[in-house]
Amino acid sequence: MSTRDLETKPVIGLEIHVQLATRTKLFCGCPLEFGAEPNSRVCPVCLGMPGVLPVMNRTAFELAVRAATALHCDIARFTKWDRKSYYYPDLPKNYQISQYDLPFSSDGYFDVPVGETTKRVRILRVHLEEDAGKNLHDNPAVTLVDLNRTGTPLLEIVTQPDIESADEAYAFCTELQKLVTYLGVSEANMQMGHMRFEPNINVHITRDGVVYKTPIVEVKNLNSFRSVRGAVMYEIERQIQDWLADPTYTLENRGKENRGWNDTREITEFQRSKEEAHDYRYFPEPDLVPVEISEAWLAELQADIPELPLDRQQRLQDEVELSAADAATIVGDRATADLFEAAIAAGGHGITLGKQFISFWLRRAKERNTSIAGLGIDAERLGELSRLTADGTINATAAARIAEHMLDSADTPMAIAQREGLIQVKDVGQMQVWVDEAFAANAKAVQDAVSNPKKQQRARGFLTGQVMKLSAGQADPKIVGELIDKKLAELAAG
Ligand code: ZN
Ligand code: MN
Repeated sequence: MSTRDLETKPVIGLEIHVQLATRTKLFCGCPLEFGAEPNSRVCPVCLGMPGVLPVMNRTAFELAVRAATALHCDIARFTKWDRKSYYYPDLPKNYQISQYDLPFSSDGYFDVPVGETTKRVRILRVHLEEDAGKNLHDNPAVTLVDLNRTGTPLLEIVTQPDIESADEAYAFCTELQKLVTYLGVSEANMQMGHMRFEPNINVHITRDGVVYKTPIVEVKNLNSFRSVRGAVMYEIERQIQDWLADPTYTLENRGKENRGWNDTREITEFQRSKEEAHDYRYFPEPDLVPVEISEAWLAELQADIPELPLDRQQRLQDEVELSAADAATIVGDRATADLFEAAIAAGGHGITLGKQFISFWLRRAKERNTSIAGLGIDAERLGELSRLTADGTINATAAARIAEHMLDSADTPMAIAQREGLIQVKDVGQMQVWVDEAFAANAKAVQDAVSNPKKQQRARGFLTGQVMKLSAGQADPKIVGELIDKKLAELAAG
């Protein structure tokens, strides 16, 4: 039987670990440095020596509350730590300090733009925990353990299974990256492993009015947006096919299982059936006091939450009339969005500035492997360039040339325009002289433009080009077009 006869509904939840942007670890003072020499950023606490006492990093907690607030979660006034036991070389204590039954926040939601609409995904909980170390398998004969990462503060965000496609999962993850960088909660650098994703996926299949649920698969430890999309897409199809081949392949019969993503083959591979929570032997951490959050502290933390990316995007669409896609691109990087708004405040022309950001500046930024803000051009000059373009002092071609000069000089756009002779000529009399000159020098093209229907369009374009050339690019192309059309019409009328 083919999948066409079935109704299938993917049910997807996400578990996401985000590394917090603290200077030091969650329960000790060891610095967090990516790429340091293995086992050089460790101390008795994060090595799990007997008799040591952890102390909570207050900044980590504050960043976590900020993120949970932006995710519209309820913040608990009382929260505690728990030990999650497991035995693994990268976890020398043999337990991870995490939060179990009393996480610091729960019951939120996150609105995610998906195409032209917005998808609301409910957040089950957000809690804090420490990261484990890293096992290195570079050498086939031995496994090496680097404990520099041990004790790194992680935010674990767990969604409700509200996501229904690979695209929605992808959109959630990218939008979350935007959010946490906006909030300054995380650098969210994917290359450095600051975000790791674990989608839980199954499919509800309806056949003849009966709903069958495939086993819930957790795909472990994905570290790129691409792999999230790939793994979810692959799993949806695989689960449907496996159920079709074997109708006992259901949640009821098989429970949950873990799979890993093979990035090269772009498939998931079976790892093990999943332990239930009690296998971890959670129990309250005796070495840490619970955290009580006063109303005053909470109010203070919640007061400095900036405008969130999606709200800002919407505002720019409304205020500056940017398209959703352009607004999303500009808002995607907070410093760039700040620069954009500063340039408008400095007298820039919104729509023109938006066009120049997306067409010119973004291209240059990408070439230099940075953001628009990273190009280092100040708001005043960006604003001025857009204003000069919008009021017709320079044309679009001249604007691009001036922008080029702005990249490696501190001169104002006006100064560059004057120096390079790029101020647009608005003197109609002068433009008429150029038009007459171009007509006189190109009799064949004039003839085609007047009486050869097949070549008309091209000949007219050619003549426009000649006039622009005579003006050294300074003529206003719109007025030139009007003058040419007028002259051609006169000639046609005989
Ligand atoms: Zn340490
Ligand atoms: Mn976790």
